Amino acid sequence: MTSTIDNSSFAVKRENILNAICVAAKNAGRNPKDINLVAVCKTQSRETVECAIEAGQLCFGENRVSEGLVHFPNGLKNGELRMIGPLQSNKAEDAVRLFDVIETLDRPSLAKALKAAIEKIGRTPKILIQVNIGEEAQKSGVLLQDLADFLALAKNEYCLPISGLMCIPPAEEPPAPYFALIQKIAKAHKLNELSMGMSGDFETAIKFGATHVRIGSALFGER
Ligand SMILES: *Cc1c(COP(=O)(O)O)cnc(C)c1O
Repeated sequence: MTSTIDNSSFAVKRENILNAICVAAKNAGRNPKDINLVAVCKTQSRETVECAIEAGQLCFGENRVSEGLVHFPNGLKNGELRMIGPLQSNKAEDAVRLFDVIETLDRPSLAKALKAAIEKIGRTPKILIQVNIGEEAQKSGVLLQDLADFLALAKNEYCLPISGLMCIPPAEEPPAPYFALIQKIAKAHKLNELSMGMSGDFETAIKFGATHVRIGSALFGER
């Protein structure tokens, strides 16, 4: 399904979110500049994405490589494209070509595919490891108990530039304890980027150190 919105309503929603990010940052004693708004454009039309760019949005999150190619057939100059959805190993080359950041590294086979793709294409996106912070069976992500080994494997064996962690806490529970936990773990591993928080919980995520909040519906409307 695709939906289209006009530029002004996107611009207004974006201003509101940026203000809310500022307030949440100040309440947490943080610099608002350390928090990046990632516009999640799944299901949006290419026209909507172009309106968002015109409104000044520079950072976008995509759930699928194929949709990313529709939205940004020539990539995104002067901006940042982030892969935030599950990534199949056979899409690793397309992903490395298109994205500036891949947030969803979650298994050794994908680490291997990314290394091969990076060598072949000669372009190195930043990489985050997705953590299955609530240990949910239906969610992808590395389990906490496996994170230290996986991090070592990704860095040492596959030479991947791991810059942070990404998570989606369980939908039915208060997110704060999960955000607090992943913040602690990122710190312990000296990882700077923390991608967490969506339309419903980004202010809480900012309180616990989010550097990238991934917002879809609050920016573009309900999907
Ligand atoms: C859809 C999606 C989002 C945005 O969710 P909203 O609730 O619409 O803000 C963030 N992160 C991921 C991984 C998503 O798939």
